[in-house]
Amino acid sequence: MKDAAVLCVGKRIVSTCQTKDALRDSWIRKHRKKIVEIDCARRVVLPGFVDSHTHPVFIAPRLVDFEKRITGATYEEIADAGGGIRSSLDGVRKASMKQLAEQVLAALQEMAGQGTTTVEAKSGYGLTLDAEIKSLRAIQKASAQWPGTVISTLLGAHVVPREFQGRQQEYVDLVCRQMIPRAARGRLAQFVDVFVDRGAFTNEDAKKIFEAAENHGLGVRAHVCQLTERALQPLLHFAVASLDHLDHVSDADINRLARLETVATLVPGANYFLGLENFPPARKLIDAGVSVALATDYNPGSSPTASMPFVLSLACTHLKMSPAEAISAATINGAWSLRLQARKGSIEPGKDADLAVFDVADYRETAYWVASNRCAFSVLNGRVATLRAD
Ligand SMILES: [Zn+2]
Repeated sequence: MKDAAVLCVGKRIVSTCQTKDALRDSWIRKHRKKIVEIDCARRVVLPGFVDSHTHPVFIAPRLVDFEKRITGATYEEIADAGGGIRSSLDGVRKASMKQLAEQVLAALQEMAGQGTTTVEAKSGYGLTLDAEIKSLRAIQKASAQWPGTVISTLLGAHVVPREFQGRQQEYVDLVCRQMIPRAARGRLAQFVDVFVDRGAFTNEDAKKIFEAAENHGLGVRAHVCQLTERALQPLLHFAVASLDHLDHVSDADINRLARLETVATLVPGANYFLGLENFPPARKLIDAGVSVALATDYNPGSSPTASMPFVLSLACTHLKMSPAEAISAATINGAWSLRLQARKGSIEPGKDADLAVFDVADYRETAYWVASNRCAFSVLNGRVATLRAD
């Protein structure tokens, strides 16, 4: 909409219209002195981004992985050199909850500075009962200090930690019988996630974990088909909110997904950062009718970026999505993947006042300028944040 105005009262959007109509509105005229007006002339206002897949609970960047990968080391060689997911475990296990919360809050603030107003945040670098619960508490503590909205996810089933090597089933039991009940009882997570792939968990493991999650009233989502193709059908018996990565998904499964409300969340930042030549098949998914969301996958190993505009850029240049498709994927479809579609993801009366304001003249520029932050400021649940000095 050109020359538009958005009226927010408290935490909600109450109307959207042309600016000239807003100025004529009798309620607005009567209350004009009390209304805070923010001039967005020559700017673009989008719904705040919904970053529906992030791993912000970690202590240190993974520089061993970064350098080793440049020299062509394999996943296994990186792990042997002290890198990989397991190298993040030490830091998280030793850290205090407060230290972790500070890390998470810093990430949330960086995200808001680039237009993100809703974030899904996963645990998954603790992988003991105590360290996973501590990670979820850190997310809870950070989100209480951030004006945006955070949805937290238990990812106890990220990898099998070293001390359970060869005893995978015992670890799955720990996730199902201890982590999930504790997270549910403490209201520390809305979703449970599982990494289903080579070197991680099987479909059978995922079914047990999903059953435990649903028995405790938690939603389910999964990392799938990042490294290898595998059948999605066993997982689709559950009300899966989102399947993420999907680099190697079969045509039959794409057609199955098209008939479901399950969202396909693509995270091309990981493909970029790992230096891969192939990217997830966004065009195939969209053309088949699957709902596609985009997220950063913010994490220290494979996608250290908090920038949704960068992900939009990758979606256009490498996934062949149009700027409009990419923006929908980064807003309303991300909201669907978190089951927040009634509150988030679009600028409509009744929805939460989550806006991202960009210093650009055309919405397509949000995906066009590469690696440059054009976000002027965000509005998170009605609160203006991160006003950049002009
Ligand atoms: Zn992930």
